[in-house]
Formats: sequence, structure tokens, C-alpha cells
Amino acid sequence: MERDKLLYPNGNPRPGSEDAYAVGYDPETGIARDPRDMDQATLRALGHGGPILQAVRQNCRECQAGNEAEVRRCRMVWCPFWPYRMGSNPFHRQELSSEQREERRRRLATAREARREIPEPRSS
Ligand code: SF4
Repeated sequence: MERDKLLYPNGNPRPGSEDAYAVGYDPETGIARDPRDMDQATLRALGHGGPILQAVRQNCRECQAGNEAEVRRCRMVWCPFWPYRMGSNPFHRQELSSEQREERRRRLATAREARREIPEPRSS
């Protein structure tokens, strides 16, 4: 199973009989499958398997209709994701040198730029 057959580059499921929704459901019961019983290749094809903090960040972005500034401004302090919404764990702070901070800032900027370059969906 290949990720690009299930999902568009932006992570949205492709329509069709073998789409991401179909993979996520048991066809006999119609109930969502338990990820603990699924193989890793299938989970990765669905776009999962990255760092958990990235998943939280992505969830927060979707919660705020894709607006990262609104994620930053979120005031729902009781939400379990709130301390992690910026993509880091404040309970595991690292002391970084200014060079390490600059390197991380550069890597983040490169990753954000790569995310913006979403190719057009392939026609079938
Ligand atoms: S912290 Fe909770 S309420 Fe705020 S953006 Fe994230 S998911 Fe949404």
C-alpha cells in the first residue's frame, strides 16, 4: 500500500473505493480498525508514524482552520494539547547555544517551505 494512492500530498484522503477511509474500517463490521492491530506499512501509508508532537501540531492547525497564528493565540488552556500546540514539549526544555537555535530555525524554515510546495493532484 502506498501513501500517495491513499492521500493527496496535503494529507487529505483521495476519493475512491480503496481510499483512506476504506482502509481504516473493518469491512465486515463497519467499525474503525484498531491501530494496534494494523501493520506499520498501512499506518505509514495513511500518513502516520511521525513524531507525536508533529501530530499534535497538525491537529491544532486543523482545529484552527489551518491558521498557524490562531494556533499560537489559542486560549483553550484546558485542552490537553495546549502546552504542546507549538510543536514542542515545554516539560523537556533544552539549553541550546545560539548556533544550535539558529540551525534549528533554519531547518524549521526549510521544512515549512517544503510543505508549501504541494504538487497538483495527479489525474487518473
Ligand atoms: S490547543 Fe486544543 S483548542 Fe487549541 S488549537 Fe490545539 S487542539 Fe485546538
